[in-house]
Amino acid sequence: MNPPGPHRAGPHCDHLAVSVKIARVPLAATLAAVVGAVALLAGPVPLRSPANARVVWMPGTPPAPPGTGTPPPPAATPGTPAPATTGSPATRNGTSAAVPGATPPGTRPSVVDHGPRTGNKVALTFDADMTDAMRYQLRSGAVRSYANLKIIELLERERVPATFFLTGKWVEQYPTVTRRLATNPRFELANHTYGHLAFTPDCYGLPRIPEREMTADVARTFDVVSAYGGRQTRYFRFPGLCHDRTALTALAPLGLTVVDGDVISGDPFATSWRPIVRAVLAGVRPGSVIVLHVTEANAAMTDEALPHILAGLAERGLTPAPLSEVLGPTGR
Ligand SMILES: [Zn+2]
Repeated sequence: MNPPGPHRAGPHCDHLAVSVKIARVPLAATLAAVVGAVALLAGPVPLRSPANARVVWMPGTPPAPPGTGTPPPPAATPGTPAPATTGSPATRNGTSAAVPGATPPGTRPSVVDHGPRTGNKVALTFDADMTDAMRYQLRSGAVRSYANLKIIELLERERVPATFFLTGKWVEQYPTVTRRLATNPRFELANHTYGHLAFTPDCYGLPRIPEREMTADVARTFDVVSAYGGRQTRYFRFPGLCHDRTALTALAPLGLTVVDGDVISGDPFATSWRPIVRAVLAGVRPGSVIVLHVTEANAAMTDEALPHILAGLAERGLTPAPLSEVLGPTGR
């Protein structure tokens, strides 16, 4: 439904290092997802960038369109609280209760893959990517939506807890949907950067953010997301799960926890729901953090996979829970 484009395969495929973590992902799904992300430069990239991955920019990729730079901040949205302005750790409900994921500002954030392997809780996490190229796809009419409402409706109907890693540009594109997420007491909100740029030199061909802009980008995203209230957190996920010491150091002032995940669904650019379900159910364990996407056009099978995932979790005695409950206090 969302073919990766003309560059379905390429020489870079030969150079993909497969780490222990991603070895559990079906290779076909992995390659399709990675190639798709590179070809379109418009979407979710599902995997940690191996240090020696050679995913190269391919000619013919949609160019960054003119006039799609940083938009003006959205007008005040009725019903949403006044936005914060500092990007600093907030308190929930105006109390002094610790916000999940908050860490002492000034310390390089820890990176968390999963929670304790005891109990029966797992976290469903959904990334909401939005790049300038994706916005161009929307405005040109090539793509209908990057907000998969069928996923949200299912989670609401079945009363399933979930955590959403939102890019600032996605929030600005979908304020109504964001408000809907924020008002659900079972949903937690987290940070996935402002415009889904790469925070390492080599991250699936995503355009790179300059080091000097990293801190402000993530702080700005906290401000954009926190304006909607609800279950705010200081959890943060890098685009493509790509991070290095430089990127982590840049985020030290923000007092956050980096969350990767230990179950990579491979849902971006999937053409069938089955490999997604297989990847999730093959890897999931108590404490798992499952990485999925709510970006519809770039992850069009996720809503079809989700009922099967929920059924499979139930069969295994595993229960979806908000990320903060899965990670627990040791996961900040
Ligand atoms: Zn992403």
